[in-house]
Amino acid sequence: MSSLFPSLTDDPAAREALRFGDRSLTYRELAAAAGAVGARVRGRDRVAVWATPTLHTAVAVVGTLLAGVAAVPLNPKSGEKELGHIVADSAPAAVLAAPGADLPGVLAGLERIDVDVRAVGPVPAADAEDGDPALIVYTSGTTGPPKGAVLPRRAVAATLDALADAWRWTARDVLVHGLPLFHVHGLVLGILGPLRRGGSVRHLGRFTTEGVARELNDGATMLFGVPTMYHRIAEALPGDPELAEALAGARLLVSGSAALPVHDHERIAAATGRRVIERYGMTETLMNTSVRVDGEARAGTVGVPLPGVELRLVEEDGTPVTARDGETVGEIQVRGPNLFTEYLNRPDATAAAFTADGFFRTGDMAVRDPDGSVRIVGRKATDLIKSGGYKIGAGEIENALLEHPAVREAAVTGEPDADLGERIVAWIVPADPHAPPGLEELADHVARRLAPHKRPRVVRILDVLPRNDMGKIMKRALGTA
Ligand code: ATP
Ligand code: MG
Repeated sequence: MSSLFPSLTDDPAAREALRFGDRSLTYRELAAAAGAVGARVRGRDRVAVWATPTLHTAVAVVGTLLAGVAAVPLNPKSGEKELGHIVADSAPAAVLAAPGADLPGVLAGLERIDVDVRAVGPVPAADAEDGDPALIVYTSGTTGPPKGAVLPRRAVAATLDALADAWRWTARDVLVHGLPLFHVHGLVLGILGPLRRGGSVRHLGRFTTEGVARELNDGATMLFGVPTMYHRIAEALPGDPELAEALAGARLLVSGSAALPVHDHERIAAATGRRVIERYGMTETLMNTSVRVDGEARAGTVGVPLPGVELRLVEEDGTPVTARDGETVGEIQVRGPNLFTEYLNRPDATAAAFTADGFFRTGDMAVRDPDGSVRIVGRKATDLIKSGGYKIGAGEIENALLEHPAVREAAVTGEPDADLGERIVAWIVPADPHAPPGLEELADHVARRLAPHKRPRVVRILDVLPRNDMGKIMKRALGTA
């Protein structure tokens, strides 16, 4: 196949490719360091990468891919149990890590390859095919134990090129990056994306609103973030004119990995004049939809199917939803070159995930608006509440609750109810822990904005919501699913 990274394999330039804090690599330096990694891993089946938010991780993954080998990114914050599961499941030939990185005992049995970001080696000419695995990425584990999605080289190329089309993403773009590197968002979009375009990345190490403001005011053009980051931005904006100026001047602000609360979207728009663009994807499918740069970024919509992606909504009994009424809910199913090939070692889960005609069942529920835009209602497993004969999406109730001044964070679940089938439960982190809002107040607030049957019947006050490392709310831990 054609190269995944033409800017590295053709004639690498002395232009900056990657910057992590005060360490950076030009395309020429990256090609040399990745070449050295490639020489070490060549001929192996797959290798694990200890995916700290550092230059080493980027060099390790790029070198592995250039050599035609598959990379398995490991989350350094995972516990030994989860890492043990991933290593046993994926059986990597070695683990690549920064020199001196302190690897946990469960990795002790693996050959260790230290990544030298200043090494020099020739770029390997991989004879990899489009269908060969590029990455094995474990899902976030939001709804169950993580599964290893085998992503072919074709999927990486297809998704990045589709996003380039939707976002007019070019070599001139400079990305501000503050995400971890062991999931699709931070690794595929955030590192491989700019490198495939020939652009550059500045990684903040750790996300801060100050870092975002500094980089965007210093020539960076785009920001990729998860909703918790945009929430922090929305909170900081009123007291931070430099941040407002930075966002106002950015070419593209993109959110994904979970739904961006409407309240945060609107607050950012009001303070900066810019609307955050949402895109929707999964580990298994890479990216499926996005608001396009020239499209209308309405709060709550994840845009339209990307080029090459076939998307349909299907009701529980298999009937396709053809209505574009913004009302009729169906499960999102997708087909296209962006899809994974299988869950590693899980033929049953793989078979169950696909329809007879090759569409992947995402488990996400959505409606389509008259203009074709997709609006995600929530996950089938945890966000769809069947109450009093209605099917109610948790997301719109969460959005309504977040507009209440006494509410800082909100999550909505269903729990069994003798009368209603399920009753709506609101889990609330109050703005003031000493003055939590009451049930009646919140129920009235929701019933006024949505419909009376969508009001919560129970309110539970928490100090924090359980979230994973992407900031996703772990509804399992709230006692559902
Ligand atoms: P697991 O599959 O292990 O339970 P997970 O589904 O959270 O974990 P990922 O593949 O990282 O793992 O996340 C994909 C999911 O994230 C999607 O299925 C969808 O529910 C959610 N998601 C991603 N982007 C968006 C978005 N823009 N709006 C709403 N939800 C989103
Ligand atoms: Mg999932």
